[in-house]
Amino acid sequence: MAQPARALELLNSVFGHDAFRGNQTEIISHITTGGDALVLMPTGGGKSLCYQLPALLREGTAIVVSPLIALMQDQVAALTQLGVKAAFLNSTLSAPDAWEVEQSLLKGELDLLYVAPERLMMPNMLQLITRSNIALFAIDEAHCVSQWGHDFRPEYLQLSVLHEKFPDVPRIALTATADPQTRGEIITRLALQEAHVFVSSFDRPNIRYTIVDKQDSRKQLMRFIQEEHAGESGIVYCLSRKKVDETAAWLTLQGVKALPYHAGMEASARSTNQARFQRDDGIVIVATIAFGMGIDKPDVRYVAHLDLPKSIEAYYQETGRAGRDGEPADAWMTYGLGDVVQQRRMIAESEGSEAYKRVCAAKLDALLGLAETAGCRRVRLLEYFGETGAAACGNCDNCLDPPQTWDATEAAQKALSAIYRTGQRFGAMHLIDVLRGHTTQRVVQCNHNQLSVFGVGCDTDDATWRNVFRQLVALGYAEPDHEAYGALKLTAASRGVLRREVRVEMRHAVTRKARAQKIRRVIVDGAVVAPDAQLLDKLKAWRYTEAQAQSVPAYVIFHDRTLAGIAAAQPQTLDQLAAISGIGAKKLERYGAAILALLQGAQN
Ligand code: ADP
Ligand code: ZN
Repeated sequence: MAQPARALELLNSVFGHDAFRGNQTEIISHITTGGDALVLMPTGGGKSLCYQLPALLREGTAIVVSPLIALMQDQVAALTQLGVKAAFLNSTLSAPDAWEVEQSLLKGELDLLYVAPERLMMPNMLQLITRSNIALFAIDEAHCVSQWGHDFRPEYLQLSVLHEKFPDVPRIALTATADPQTRGEIITRLALQEAHVFVSSFDRPNIRYTIVDKQDSRKQLMRFIQEEHAGESGIVYCLSRKKVDETAAWLTLQGVKALPYHAGMEASARSTNQARFQRDDGIVIVATIAFGMGIDKPDVRYVAHLDLPKSIEAYYQETGRAGRDGEPADAWMTYGLGDVVQQRRMIAESEGSEAYKRVCAAKLDALLGLAETAGCRRVRLLEYFGETGAAACGNCDNCLDPPQTWDATEAAQKALSAIYRTGQRFGAMHLIDVLRGHTTQRVVQCNHNQLSVFGVGCDTDDATWRNVFRQLVALGYAEPDHEAYGALKLTAASRGVLRREVRVEMRHAVTRKARAQKIRRVIVDGAVVAPDAQLLDKLKAWRYTEAQAQSVPAYVIFHDRTLAGIAAAQPQTLDQLAAISGIGAKKLERYGAAILALLQGAQN
């Protein structure tokens, strides 16, 4: 069979998928015919197949270098379920177990071998490789070679040895980190100058971006979970450890299965929580950004930010952990004046050089631009990563529910005057009292009821004023005073507004209507069908028992999408079952009868 036809045949029979995605076909063909490649694809784009299929198509064993020791076992379990001969070598294996894996490698019994980078570089491992038949080297998470990135792994720097020692074995390096600087570092440090670079679009069309005005963020989060994601897996990011603990405890009180995760916890508690999140159904993990690289869960249905990240890169990486399986998922964030003030202060108080602070400030400004835009969020995100010309997406809050903008020049002028007349020593709360004409104790004490600005904003409500101050700071017309906690002061740009030389456009706060919980719909024989909810619950219960018995994560048995497909199509025969996406030959053989019996039982 010609190679492309054989690749498609294996995709169907082993992996149970109908067609390749994006540029998977070209990448697989390039590697299979012996070329080197650098693959840049967003999280969830389908990188694994780009080396797993060539591993099956080429003679010998594919060596997969991966820094994520904690995940190797799950990756190997998932492949074993598909009937692929896979194993791993890392420090968690006992010496006799490792010896056995090495023997299988020598005998040519393995399709894929996952190895930690430090292990691969040991002299006896390199010797073992010399004596074995190697199909290819896959270097996963290739951005770990970047000394400037936060995932830097020094052992990755030595991986160029592979090219020197085994010049005839094709290499494929893969990463979801897009920026040109990291790309350049990967090429030089891994000696991939000859490699073909495959760049995919960084769009994640199944993720819906939403940024809401922060009011009571916990309650907003609770409503979001209840209304849109009850019982589903999600990640909630907070800035501080304390807030992580408090939020997890609060969610638990509200009846949500929530667990905390941060660097201040004991290592054992942390890894227990991570393992439960990875393996069980419907766990919510509340975490600081320390919770990152070790997660490879395909069915995370939402990522919620209770605090503002530092940059668009960080936001995109964190939100990218939602919906890796391609099913609808949400990236949801609450954002308010406090976030802007806090991030600006953190930059001002950081230890870095002036140049470093300028870079940080510019990155924060780009993120604030995203948060304040009235246009499509996805267009804005893609533009930031250099993909221009995208059309409005129809799957972000601004597309679905376009915010109104208003001419806020006069309001901005009043707000800035209030800052100026009160001596640039007060925060937004007090300034709003002055503008609204509230005679609070503090207003009276400071004689601020005598000022010309006192009460000039009485016809505008508090919420709108909070919005005005937030946008003034986000747009750079006012800034937090780093000497006086919480106080706002004027900037060089304020003058233009005070003199009415610039027009200030702001967006109205949007009060969103509740959105219905998304019902997964599946295409059966060309028609769109909603899965039977009761049947889906039964299938999930069956999957849970099966996963527990084999001690593997639930998604390793079947993905949500596959269960939804079964609950929609309700197949009667093994052939009909095999037609559902995600059911390859091995899984049909192993689980087919049990599923058909379950479906029949449910009908009687
Ligand atoms: P990445 O490593 O790029 O984050 P994965 O390789 O884990 O992504 O793939 C993400 C998800 O997409 C997995 O659930 C995988 O089974 C699925 N997938 C990948 N390629 C295809 C395809 N051609 N058809 C259907 N599903 C696919
Ligand atoms: Zn949009």
